[in-house]
Amino acid sequence: ERAPVVTIDGPSGAGKGTIAHLLAKHYGWQLLDSGAIYRVLALAALHHNVELDNEEAITLLAAHLDVQFLTGSDKDAIKVVLEGEDVTGAIRTQECSNAASKVAAFPRVREALLRRQRAFCKAPGLIADGRDMGTVVFQTAPAKLYLTASAEERAQRRYNQLQDKGFDVNIDRLLAEIQERDERDMNRAVAPLVPADDALVIDTTGIGIDDVLARCINHIDDRL
Ligand code: C5P
Repeated sequence: ERAPVVTIDGPSGAGKGTIAHLLAKHYGWQLLDSGAIYRVLALAALHHNVELDNEEAITLLAAHLDVQFLTGSDKDAIKVVLEGEDVTGAIRTQECSNAASKVAAFPRVREALLRRQRAFCKAPGLIADGRDMGTVVFQTAPAKLYLTASAEERAQRRYNQLQDKGFDVNIDRLLAEIQERDERDMNRAVAPLVPADDALVIDTTGIGIDDVLARCINHIDDRL
């Protein structure tokens, strides 16, 4: 790791994605959305009819995954391309979220994706968003953040997002799915979701995005 890395870990819906984008913009750094890699892998498995419980086959798929992250004219939006096909929207479905957390539980799959993730570390610096950025992938990062919020609040945020996009969803079902995914991510044997010892933990329940961003920037500026 030549360039400095800031890691942001935490459960889904804690505001990591938004904060990571804003920090990348603030510092003019690269951005790694590691969850998108697991999502693309899950989608590739679904496309190629690979069973989600076949660790061997999924690992092979991970090693040869043909994925590109393209920054378009709109600097805020990153286009995700799998085998030449734009899958930016397709990887965000609930089915893909659940499939991603299943394939992410396999140790050899995680191992196969390590180098690909570390390759995002380029000058002038990297904001890395995920579950194990500070604990595994970028262990020596100078600044680490862990964002969390109550499951109810995270479900509510997700509900609002989906409503804005015109989707009619059931909030109780969203909450159940969030809890199920947390459970799987926190209790897996390899790289479970847990704050790094040296991470600043921020509970964003009831806190606005501007406040969270300010606290993150303070912490980062202190450590760089
Ligand atoms: O962050 P996102 O919700 O897009 O991640 C989808 C899934 O990918 C997570 O539920 C988690 O199981 C997995 N993941 C992971 N390690 C990361 C990022 C995501 O295991 N660094």
